[in-house]
Amino acid sequence: MAINSIWVVVELTDAGPTTTSLELLTAARGLGSSVDAVAWGTNVAANAGVLGEYGATTVYDIGDIGDALPGSPVAGAIAGAIAGGSGPDAIFIPTSYDGRDIAGRLSARADLPVLTNITGLVGGDTMTTQHPVFGGTQIVNASFTGNGPGIYVIRAKSFAPEPSGGAAASVSSLAVPDLGTTNSASITERHVEERTGPKLDEAAVVVSGGRGLGEAANYALIEDLAKLLHGAAGASRAIVDAGWVPYAHQVGQTGKTVKPDVYLACGISGATQHMVGMKGAKNIIAINKDQDAPIFTIADLGIVGDVHKVVPALIEALKSH
Ligand SMILES: Cc1cc2nc3c(=O)[nH]c(=O)nc-3n(C[C@H](O)[C@H](O)[C@H](O)COP(=O)(O)OP(=O)(O)OC[C@H]3O[C@@H](n4cnc5c(N)ncnc54)[C@H](O)[C@@H]3O)c2cc1C
Repeated sequence: MAINSIWVVVELTDAGPTTTSLELLTAARGLGSSVDAVAWGTNVAANAGVLGEYGATTVYDIGDIGDALPGSPVAGAIAGAIAGGSGPDAIFIPTSYDGRDIAGRLSARADLPVLTNITGLVGGDTMTTQHPVFGGTQIVNASFTGNGPGIYVIRAKSFAPEPSGGAAASVSSLAVPDLGTTNSASITERHVEERTGPKLDEAAVVVSGGRGLGEAANYALIEDLAKLLHGAAGASRAIVDAGWVPYAHQVGQTGKTVKPDVYLACGISGATQHMVGMKGAKNIIAINKDQDAPIFTIADLGIVGDVHKVVPALIEALKSH
């Protein structure tokens, strides 16, 4: 089925739309003749400018959902529009906790098919989706064959966000139907993770440490180097699982996908599950004492050496500048 109208589910924070939401709007612009956003909260109208700048003509405002989880009201509102005949041809949803919840509930409520884990989209009469499998070593192409609007759940960093220079989106409210008991879960507490420096998935420089660091205390070297480079500190799953650093630092298939200008892998072997989360970096530097470590196969610059010597030397060199 030809895709004309695309709705993009946009997640808003106090600082504006999430980067992934802007990535999805950018992608939608190149695929559909009409792109609109769906958003909720108290600040939707305040974001109409930026949403228009990234390609949305209209932002459908679901309104203030209070302490409800977005899954039920957002899925209910979109399903209501589809049932009323005013829905789109495709719905783009970010791969986030709330996004996945919205997609699952929308699929059940509107009896629509879902494609998840999408990292690429190719337009045409029938839109083709791309999905990495086997740790990113193979790509599966898929497309919907039915008539109903398809739900596309798209991974972060699959597209670069680019403003189109469009005018502010017009704001139109989208009604939430009676949700019954499906809306009875609510948020009781919010925890804002402490962080200094840039966000891991938005930093221009990422310095990551792995098991080659030897022990938890040595992760301080990674943090020091990241700070000196105005970057963020990342980690392999091995040291997250070992309890050296929180999960929020994990890069890879089951962690964050990063695409910095420079990615520095220190004492990381380069398992496919790690590389799938960082191989899109513009420049990859690897420090490993094993010259046959797989990470060197994708590194632009490889340093065969001991992280306990190379990283402190780098820190000293940067400090002396
Ligand atoms: C379903 C699934 C999902 C996964 N998801 C992820 C994920 O999201 N992210 C992720 O990272 N992993 C993930 N993994 C785990 C992954 O397979 C690897 O086990 C993990 O990435 C290894 O971490 P590492 O490179 O730190 O450790 P290791 O593989 O043990 O490598 C340590 C490296 O350090 C080097 N080294 C040792 N000492 C020194 C030294 N003094 N100086 C320099 N180098 C040294 C060694 O030569 C070695 O190459 C996943 C696995 C599965 C099965």
